[in-house]
Amino acid sequence: KENRIYNFNPGPAALPLPVLEEIQESFLNFAGSGMSITEVSHRSKGFDDVINDAVARTKRLLNLGDSHHVLFLQGGASTQFCMIPMNLLPEGQSADYVNTGTWSTKAIKEIQIQGKNVNVVASSEDKNFSYIPENIAFNSDAAYVHITSNNTIKGTQWAEFPDTGDVPIMADMSSDIMSRPFDASRFGMIYAGAQKNIGPSGVCMVIIRDDMLARVPENIPTMLKYTTHVNKNSMFNTPPCFAIYTVQLVLKWLEETVGGLDKMAEINDKKADLIYGFLDASDFYRATAAEGSRSKMNVTFRLPDEDLEKQFIQAAMENGLGGLKGHRSVGGCRASVYNAVGLDAVEALVDFMKTFEKKNG
Ligand code: PMP
Repeated sequence: KENRIYNFNPGPAALPLPVLEEIQESFLNFAGSGMSITEVSHRSKGFDDVINDAVARTKRLLNLGDSHHVLFLQGGASTQFCMIPMNLLPEGQSADYVNTGTWSTKAIKEIQIQGKNVNVVASSEDKNFSYIPENIAFNSDAAYVHITSNNTIKGTQWAEFPDTGDVPIMADMSSDIMSRPFDASRFGMIYAGAQKNIGPSGVCMVIIRDDMLARVPENIPTMLKYTTHVNKNSMFNTPPCFAIYTVQLVLKWLEETVGGLDKMAEINDKKADLIYGFLDASDFYRATAAEGSRSKMNVTFRLPDEDLEKQFIQAAMENGLGGLKGHRSVGGCRASVYNAVGLDAVEALVDFMKTFEKKNG
């Protein structure tokens, strides 16, 4: 579409064009209500249909049944860092955390603030978080294991999830949820800020297994209790209606246009093969994540020096390729290629990278 750039932003990030067009089309008159989705009551039938459809699609995409609850909460993924130990770590027990970067580190900090016991059972800090640890010795008596499935800043991703026996896994999937099929049923809890792969900012998807709810203590604030939101279908208080509506449309696009998570993963694999294949063949660009741990969502790379990186990011923008600057804490470059970023965008990026190398290499 005219005037739209190839958007490699890390989050908020690109959304599927058909979703944006449907929002535009329905914006003044949502579901025949004569009102915008930003004007309707969250207690209306129209909005009820939206949230129920979003829940049903999430369960279908992830093959989940009645034993899992899908919630739409506010406060971002960051609030989940504190809600998980508050709700799901009983007094006197401890939890295992794997530290794979900034977001895991923040999750660990929130458990320490609560004075609860955390075992950091593995960390990749020794190599600047450039890899996902393997052969981890989990504690069989841990209340849960916490991992970050995709590390948005360092560009690493768990290729396979660890076997933790009977200990439930809680996973921050903010930057790779719905990017590939996986066995969601064995997770105690999954959470994801919507603004990367499934929607705009303002809502966090939480998927929690029934047996986890028995752990929720009585004496914590109402708004921070999972049971409050399960019992009220995410409408204990006014939910972010517009954000949830957008998520619903993205899930519909995933199911009906893309054809589900197997198809989505095929496309994401193609994108990753193209860009990493190019990076590996180049003497000018260098991928920063270790092979085997590379993220298919956030591709982090460096150029020969920082000056060239600056020029690269600037020239890319001038050529209609935006959002390629690495996170301010690490520098370098990063192409976030979430579900809504098509193979055509990655092809355009690689073409641009070739041209830039010819001029500057
Ligand atoms: N976890 C991961 C993996 C993230 O990438 C981010 C945001 N970049 C967060 C958590 C924090 O999310 P939020 O801003 O929604 O609190």
